Amino acid sequence: MKYVSTRGQAPVLGFEEVLLAGLARDGGLYVPESWPQFSADEIRAMRGLPYSEIAVRVMLPFLGGAIAEDDFRAIVTDAYASFDHAAVVPLVQLDQRTWVMELFHGPTLAFKDVALQLLGRLFDHVLAKRGERVTIVGATSGDTGSAAIEACRDRQNVDIFILHPKGRTSEVQRRQMTSVLSDNVHNIALHGTFDDCQDLVKALFNDMAFRDRMGLSAVNSINWARIMAQIVYYFAAAVALGAPDRKVAFTVPTGNFGNVYAAYGARAMGLPVERLIVGSNANDILARFFASGTMSAAPVVPTLSPSMDIQISSNFERLLFDLLGRDGAAVQAAMDGFRAEGKFAVTDAQLAEAHAIFAAGRADDARTMDVIKEVWEKTGGYQVDPHTAVGIHSAATAPVDPSVPVVVMATAHPAKFPDAVETATGRRPVLPPRLADLYEREERLSELPNDVAAVQEFVVARARAAKEAA
Ligand SMILES: *Cc1c(COP(=O)(O)O)cnc(C)c1O
Repeated sequence: MKYVSTRGQAPVLGFEEVLLAGLARDGGLYVPESWPQFSADEIRAMRGLPYSEIAVRVMLPFLGGAIAEDDFRAIVTDAYASFDHAAVVPLVQLDQRTWVMELFHGPTLAFKDVALQLLGRLFDHVLAKRGERVTIVGATSGDTGSAAIEACRDRQNVDIFILHPKGRTSEVQRRQMTSVLSDNVHNIALHGTFDDCQDLVKALFNDMAFRDRMGLSAVNSINWARIMAQIVYYFAAAVALGAPDRKVAFTVPTGNFGNVYAAYGARAMGLPVERLIVGSNANDILARFFASGTMSAAPVVPTLSPSMDIQISSNFERLLFDLLGRDGAAVQAAMDGFRAEGKFAVTDAQLAEAHAIFAAGRADDARTMDVIKEVWEKTGGYQVDPHTAVGIHSAATAPVDPSVPVVVMATAHPAKFPDAVETATGRRPVLPPRLADLYEREERLSELPNDVAAVQEFVVARARAAKEAA
């Protein structure tokens, strides 16, 4: 299996290199040269299998032999043993034709754990084989840092440094990060804003000597292996609801377009998917694109579903690559246009191609609160988080054949957003047992000024890659 960049100029790579590279050197994103194909019989044979076994079967073709099957099975099994539910990603039926797939039973209660629990272990395995170490550096406004930290904690060949803006994350978010006391985890509370944290991380990556010496790497949402791991649960859901003999539609609360692109990948691999519904909040750049064929940036407004508060969805470039006939130069031109003018457009024919697969919905905060309340009332006590509620709204409003089951991806546990859920339902959602003592746990963090040199010094003093390079 080979991977090509969406901008056509970076080297073609194998799985190991793509895993470690993240972004391609031409600024593009890696995608498989062609999608592995699963026959109806192969899909049918997944019925009744444990999640980790479906995961092995779906992902193995992407590895191209880079990891031996038995080693991979052990890694996958270990990754999903960290989930609280025996089914890993259980399906819950809401009404006659709507299901929710709970993707939030991992360590940080958000769907990113599904990919990141695997990613940390894959990094460790590949790095051990190569005798290398990496230093992961990232910035967080509070939401995604903990999933990266949980993915990397205690890994032999990985050190992780996460910057958050001091005093600007919620207490739960901060504690989820700072209560991880593993030696290889370093939380930095920066004197500054989230934008300062992001700028500082960019500066670290742009210092090539520092970057090479530290083996800097990232686990952000454009990493191919994250997409790969997310494809699995679309297979698991569809097979549970009758695939390949019955079609399924999926609704995905969408931010960076990684999760819904994984569903697109599952469809390209032979899964009978009737439709993919993109759910947006008031930041509806994607809904506007699917309505008009023009992607045009607008200022981000804060909402109750912060993980979807985006200006541009980085993974959309992977879909664009296909819509533009896999022409890297055309993707480059579109992205250049977007940077220069804040917009780009596809042709009517290309938009029609997208409409054959995708639909989009939008829910503002008021509608989101109504949906949380409606679900609570109609089901007699089931709580959904605001992101999932946006998905449920979009599922109900999208044009889908009513005989087709719709699965809404539940991307966060309701207890991650307790205030909104309590306001809508009158009951405060309960943290799962694994986090029940979060407020009593010891914290460890280091405060640093908003200064590149100070952060570099901090990283050099602690990263194991630096000691080896010295
Ligand atoms: C990250 C995230 C999303 C958005 O997922 P993308 O893959 O970026 O589209 C949606 N909901 C929650 C809770 C998230 O954490």
